[in-house]
Amino acid sequence: MTTSETLFARAQELIPGGVNSPVRAFRSVGGVPVFMQSARGAWLTDVDGKQYVDFINSWGPMILGHAPAVVLDALTKALPDSLSFGAPTRREVELAELLIELVPSLEKVRLVNSGTEATMSAIRVARGYTGRAKILKFEGCYHGHGDSFLIAAGSGALTLGAPDSPGVTEGVARDTLTVPYNDLAAVEAAIAANPDQLAAIIIEPVVGNMGLVEPAPGFLAGLRALCTKHSIVLIFDEVMTGFRLAPGGAQERYGVVPDMTTLGKIIGGGLPVGAYGGRADIMNQVAPAGKVYQAGTLSGNPLATAAGMAQLRYLHEHPEVYQQLETIGTRLADGTRQIAKELGLHYTVNQVGSMFSLFFTPEPVNNLEDAKKANLPAFGRYFHAMLNRGIYLAPSQFEALFISTAITDELVEKYLTACRESLIEAHH
Ligand SMILES: *Cc1c(COP(=O)(O)O)cnc(C)c1O
Repeated sequence: MTTSETLFARAQELIPGGVNSPVRAFRSVGGVPVFMQSARGAWLTDVDGKQYVDFINSWGPMILGHAPAVVLDALTKALPDSLSFGAPTRREVELAELLIELVPSLEKVRLVNSGTEATMSAIRVARGYTGRAKILKFEGCYHGHGDSFLIAAGSGALTLGAPDSPGVTEGVARDTLTVPYNDLAAVEAAIAANPDQLAAIIIEPVVGNMGLVEPAPGFLAGLRALCTKHSIVLIFDEVMTGFRLAPGGAQERYGVVPDMTTLGKIIGGGLPVGAYGGRADIMNQVAPAGKVYQAGTLSGNPLATAAGMAQLRYLHEHPEVYQQLETIGTRLADGTRQIAKELGLHYTVNQVGSMFSLFFTPEPVNNLEDAKKANLPAFGRYFHAMLNRGIYLAPSQFEALFISTAITDELVEKYLTACRESLIEAHH
């Protein structure tokens, strides 16, 4: 037995499914999850000493690779001062300043402890601001595990959602509408069927949570126009895309400014941080400025702000990082596409900057329905073939890969060699 197998057996006795977040359990690819020991740069080392090149990077936060000196130094410096005050600190002001400077839609911002907290809070504020109850989300977009977001599509585009998880009440589900991603006509129809009832439309401006899916040309601008016309708060959930696809996130990259934005992942530099913000008139609804309640014992935690600040400052001062990530992302995606083609598979590869997905289907993937056409057993075999070759991918077809600046040209070649061998292995 490997140490991972031993630990997983113990974990399953103690922790539901043996993990503290479901995707880590490898359920959709089978097998035993790898327990990690340490990481540096592009490399992960597991509890048995085996090494892997990391293409998940903690699901996005580690954009500079693991243990970057700039973040470790900031943490080391902050450590002796305090682990938590529960009182305001200078770094919270500086971090807010930096976020507002970089993200186009932010005029005011509130720090929280996770992406889930950010999205839950953002829709509460949008509801408080508009006095309306319903929200609209897109099938396959993930906005954390708040009740309002764990809603599956109803039977038609105009029907209300159904709970996607036991424990989410039908009452909550009634207030969440779902429509297919990239379908502006469905959004218009949903608005028309619920006149003056929608508080917010929340969207991943580039989707990472059904695999990587790009917004169709004009889709985000179309949403912007509809929200303005109907006084609906447009929320971009940039927990994944913020500071990844551009310094100002997808909203900068696509030139569409939402009313509110949620952030997480990268802004904590690997520590638990989230943030939500937007137009000042909306954010002034938040307590104690306004009446919409939201709070957090550890919000603005001094270590989290030290790590986040260091990483964001680095990105701000080194904009060439984004060009580097773009180039590596394109090489990986083009290389993967080429290999699949040479093998006669013609699989779809979607890529935006440093996020990409290989879908095990030859058809274009523009929404969840498309993504679901993928050959999941073949993906599972591919995943394990890559893992055996020391390439650590997301253990699900419906997740994007995240590239860090630690991926060198040499590691791109290593990935592509493994990709070719693994695709062959997965299909014979
Ligand atoms: C990860 C993610 C969240 C949830 O963030 P947590 O920190 O895991 O709670 C929300 N929205 C998007 C788009 C995400 O990718």
